[in-house]
Amino acid sequence: EREQHRSLVEVMSTAARFYREQLKASPRAVDYLKRRGLTGEVAAKFGIGYAPDGWQALDKAFPKYDEPALAEAGLVIDNEAGRRYDRFRDRIMFPIQDARGNVIAFGGRILDAGEPKYLNSPETPLFEKGRELYGLPQARIGIRETGTVIVVEGYMDVVALAQFGVCNAVATLGTATTPTHIQKLLRQADRLVFCFDGDKAGRKAARRGLEASLPHLADDKAVSFLFLPPEHDPDSFVRAHGADAFQSAARDATPLGRFLIDTLAEGCDLATAEGRAHLVHNAKEFIPKIGAPILKMQLVRDLAQSAQLGPDETAAALGLEVPRPR
Ligand code: ATP
Ligand code: MN
Ligand code: MN
Ligand code: MN
Repeated sequence: EREQHRSLVEVMSTAARFYREQLKASPRAVDYLKRRGLTGEVAAKFGIGYAPDGWQALDKAFPKYDEPALAEAGLVIDNEAGRRYDRFRDRIMFPIQDARGNVIAFGGRILDAGEPKYLNSPETPLFEKGRELYGLPQARIGIRETGTVIVVEGYMDVVALAQFGVCNAVATLGTATTPTHIQKLLRQADRLVFCFDGDKAGRKAARRGLEASLPHLADDKAVSFLFLPPEHDPDSFVRAHGADAFQSAARDATPLGRFLIDTLAEGCDLATAEGRAHLVHNAKEFIPKIGAPILKMQLVRDLAQSAQLGPDETAAALGLEVPRPR
């Protein structure tokens, strides 16, 4: 199994090198990146490449295009007729690396309009979705220096932020944020700022991030949510308003506790007993999951205030143990 891992890592690194070389050879791909405002420097930092438009372009990179490892790595697809072809064709290639910098997967973006906009590697022995974060090796120093990690949705968001000097962002790869992601990140940073797109999908992703965070919260860690205007994602925001505006918005991000209570109260008319009961009912599924015991107590108090109940009554309604005075 070790052997297999090593050979897959080798195959992925060869492919990444090939895609980087192909980018230099493709004015159309370079032009696309330039139009999106990327510098050559940041493209190199992230090893961005280009998969040429051909069904078997990878046979130029691999002397044995028929070797099983290429399929195991998810770089080619074997069809029913036993024909093999490249998975990624005519796409900008973003290598996804593990913490050590090994390429374990790719995300490929179509250059013009078309479906799907992004194509990702399938799950392979190297790549388990829901564990990996795009841009982690590049962000490591920035995370350490700032004590903060910014979690965004997309490849382009990470790359654009880095180009503007915001070097502590990682992306969840289009999949929802998982508890594993949070656990990994909170081991490296004291503060985590979610910054998803301002659109509906982004707001939904923020709720998933909220939920995934609860079990891994700690009283000495801070998680917050930066909500961008509906028309923006981090990439477009930093290009429109600059790094200082982004950093200042990140500092003013909504703390998790407030976001949680606001979310729970959504659709509840707190002017009525029914609405206040509904709020506490909604909280039952979330507040007990909070891994930070002191924050949990604080939020019970906040909730009690909104619900016009006593803190002990609220804790009891949530099924939490009420600390008894001695
Ligand atoms: P761009 O700026 O290049 O248009 P984006 O990152 O803003 O891309 P979004 O539509 O906001 O694109 O999607 C966010 C992320 O979700 C993408 O970066 C990608 O990781 C993932 N994603 C988007 N569309 C798909 C798809 N069709 N299949 C798989 N993943 C996708
Ligand atoms: Mn989006
Ligand atoms: Mn975008
Ligand atoms: Mn986006």
